[in-house]
Amino acid sequence: MSALDDMRERLAAATELGEWEVRGKDVVIYDPNGFGAHRVVARVDHAEYTAPIANAPTDMGKLLAAVEGVLALHSPNDPTPSQPWVTCSGCTNGCSYPCPTVVALTEALEEL
Ligand SMILES: [Zn+2]
Repeated sequence: MSALDDMRERLAAATELGEWEVRGKDVVIYDPNGFGAHRVVARVDHAEYTAPIANAPTDMGKLLAAVEGVLALHSPNDPTPSQPWVTCSGCTNGCSYPCPTVVALTEALEEL
């Protein structure tokens, strides 16, 4: 799924140098070899916005894993003589693939 691949690539690029951490009003990446050297990711004037920004990569990684897990559960099954259509592996009602779960996720990702 292209939207998920794009998100995964952006996340990897943003966290390539390390985890994002809060340092005062800044969200920073510490250089693991730099004896305290760091790169400022964002400078935030209001403290209530610092944590969401600092946690964005971790939260995004968890959300990607959750969506990918759901999509892995709801994958296409080959037709069989008793169900001669492509069914969903995650839905027990024999519904056709893509099922409503996959359609909902796909549509939401296309809106991004
Ligand atoms: Zn399904």
